[in-house]
Amino acid sequence: MKTVVRASELNAAIELAKAAGKKVALVPTMGALHQGHLSLIQVAKKHADFVVVSIFVNPLQFGPSEDFDKYPRTLETDSAQLAEAGVDLLFSPTVDVMYPDASESTKSAGHIGNTFEGAVRPGHFDGMLTVVSRLFDLVQPNVAVFGAKDAQQLHLIKTMATRDYPNLEIIEAPTIREVGGLALSSRNRYLDEAAHEVAQQLSAALRAGAAAVHPGGQTNPKQVIEAATAVLAKAPEAKLDYIALVDQDTFEPLENGFSGRALLLIAARVGETRLIDNTEITF
Ligand code: AMP
Repeated sequence: MKTVVRASELNAAIELAKAAGKKVALVPTMGALHQGHLSLIQVAKKHADFVVVSIFVNPLQFGPSEDFDKYPRTLETDSAQLAEAGVDLLFSPTVDVMYPDASESTKSAGHIGNTFEGAVRPGHFDGMLTVVSRLFDLVQPNVAVFGAKDAQQLHLIKTMATRDYPNLEIIEAPTIREVGGLALSSRNRYLDEAAHEVAQQLSAALRAGAAAVHPGGQTNPKQVIEAATAVLAKAPEAKLDYIALVDQDTFEPLENGFSGRALLLIAARVGETRLIDNTEITF
């Protein structure tokens, strides 16, 4: 595996791959890699023959009181895992490489960018879209792979790609979980044993919500939310931000009857650690 830091080195490596007729996949990450990230690489390998992984902790998507400084940075072990996974190119740029021109405009995530995660983390999705579009511009991939775990992020990236990158295919990879159900996350390493136990209740709440669906369109979305909320209420150490049902295609909240595919979203704080998860619900 080759590792590059500069945009010019990246360009040269990509040009070489494309000249050899290779299809290029990009897997953007912030590092502190776990099996969830590695699963995206396996998906990427099925869709392309040259896999680029980026590791960049993007300052633009962290609020002033968030964990940017403390976010885990484990480049050496990440790099070893990526080589082992058969990644072709690791792009680990500095802030100057990603944002050479401070006056460059940022992307706007629009109205959906201000709901749910965006309501709790103002500016987060503008910063996320800005870095993702910059990565798309630099790497010029044929496909890019993102996890379903970050559902709102994925929705906004798909919307941006349809509008601005019509030749790029966005691929969604399923959420990888621990045996107990907790979705893998780089932030899980902040959890001590007790907090880890509490964190399992997020996925338990999602399962309870999914189980409240009666087949045949008889379920009111409120029943799903109530069933999920009841589980989390039994773990008061988890401070709930939201449990919500959204239309999977529009990310608009579902309040009344619905048939089709929905996402049940959950976000909660366990101690200082903010966790999010979701599951697909078919009515
Ligand atoms: P991050 O490093 O947290 O920015 O995540 C990089 C990519 O990995 C994003 O597309 C995430 O959605 C994805 N990802 C994070 N956790 C998981 C997981 N547990 N399963 C699958 N994909 C994940």
